Order: sequence, then C-alpha cells, then structure tokens
Amino acid sequence: MRLIFMGPPGAGKGTQAERITTAYNIVHLSTGDLLRMNVKRGTELGQLAHSYMDAGELVPDDLILKMVAAEFKDPKIENGFILDGFPRTVAQATALDDFLIQEGKHLNHVLVMDVIDEKLVARLTARRTCRICGRSYHLSFNPPKKPGICDNDGSELYQREDDKEVTVRNRLAVYKRQTRPLIEHYMKKGMVKHIDGVGTVDEVFDRIREVLGPCD
Ligand code: ADP
Ligand code: ADP
Repeated sequence: MRLIFMGPPGAGKGTQAERITTAYNIVHLSTGDLLRMNVKRGTELGQLAHSYMDAGELVPDDLILKMVAAEFKDPKIENGFILDGFPRTVAQATALDDFLIQEGKHLNHVLVMDVIDEKLVARLTARRTCRICGRSYHLSFNPPKKPGICDNDGSELYQREDDKEVTVRNRLAVYKRQTRPLIEHYMKKGMVKHIDGVGTVDEVFDRIREVLGPCD
C-alpha cells in the first residue's frame, strides 16, 4: 500500500503513521524526521536545512528532492510506504508523480487529516518529542508513562525549537499558502480521503482503518 499523509502541522500525522506502519507493514517516510536526523548528525544537508526549519519555513525543494530520491532507492519501500510531510509544494508533488510513473507504481490514497487551528496550536505548543526515535507525546493529551522519558526507548524528550507558539503560527500560514493547494492536485486524481483528526488517538485510527480496509 502506498499512501500520502497530508494535513497541517500538529494534525497527528506522526502519531497515526506509527500505528499505520505497524498494522499494514509499510514504511514510514517522514521528511521532517529525516531532516532532524541530518541536523543532529551535522551533515551538509542538516547545516543547510536547519535555519529554515527553526523559522518554520520550508526547506528548498532541491534539497528535499535529493533526500527523498535516496530513500526511494532503498529496497525497504517495496512493500509500501506512507509519506508524512512530503510532498509539501507543487514542485515536490510533480516530482513524485514523475517518479511513480517512471517506476510503474501508483498511490492508493491521499489521507488528509482535518483539525482546526486552535486545537493545532494547543497540540504543538505542548508537544514533546523523543530525541532518538522521534515519537511525539503531549503533556496533557498523550503523556509518556514517565515524565520526560520516551516509552519506546527510554530516551529524553525535548521541545522542538519550531514548536514555540510564534513559529507554530508561521508553520500554519506556510501550510495554508504552500501545501494545502496540493489537496486540489490530488482531488483531481480522485485520491483524497478526509479524516476527522479530532478525538482520541484510537478513535482517529479507527477512522483511518475504515478507509484503508482490513490490515491482514
Ligand atoms: P504531526 O506529525 O501531524 O505534526 P503529531 O503526531 O506529532 O502531529 O501530533 C502533534 C501533537 O498532538 C503531539 O503532541 C501529539 O501527542 C498530539 N496528538 C496526536 N494525536 C492526538 C489526538 N488524537 N488528540 C490530541 N492530541 C493528539
Ligand atoms: P510538522 O509535521 O510538525 O509540521 P515536520 O516534522 O513535517 O513538521 O517538518 C518540520 C520542518 O521540516 C518543516 O517546518 C520544514 O522546515 C521542514 N520540512 C519537512 N518536510 C519538508 C518538505 N517536504 N519540504 C520542505 N520542508 C520540509
């Protein structure tokens, strides 16, 4: 199964993608996670990308496309993937279309998570993220079992620089301006499925499962 996961920052894409990949045995490709890994390791890409990320602006398309092309060469994607945070611009969507045509592959669905802005701000400003595995938590809505510690691998949780309120508001504006228009691009192809992203993590996952069908 090949999926795109769209929706504003804080809609719950990372949280749900973790469940989807386990249930459907596909790979989670998050461009945000990949970029943060590059920043942490101090790679050339990380050095070029980090100021855009901290400001809540998009990293230039050429850097993103090079990074994603490398991921697509990996045999791990053969069983399917969920793209989280990519594509985010028309140029990225066009490059993805070309790649899929070249490979003779098609997308199954474009899932769009809908959550209103004020809930997004509340989710993001109290988000905590694992330094190692990238799993996200929320101080009130989805807390770790032990404060400050990741349930998954016991590593430290931190607040992402771009989860401060002023940057969050900029990211929402960037989403509306540059990424939301892509929904139309995929509507024309008849691929878009809207998911109500408000409710418990389990309730939202049930809605996604209804769209995707049985896991086995
Ligand atoms: P995205 O990847 O779309 O930016 P995340 O999955 O990181 O979003 O979730 C953003 C924040 O909202 C995190 O703090 C997460 O714990 C929290 N969250 C995720 N799903 C829900 C939900 N259904 N209800 C309330 N908070 C949620
Ligand atoms: P969230 O889902 O919480 O908005 P992400 O982890 O997807 O955040 O992205 C964090 C930051 O990484 C973005 O604000 C942007 O700077 C950069 N980024 C991630 N994916 C892309 C992309 N496809 N194109 C451009 N920039 C990206």
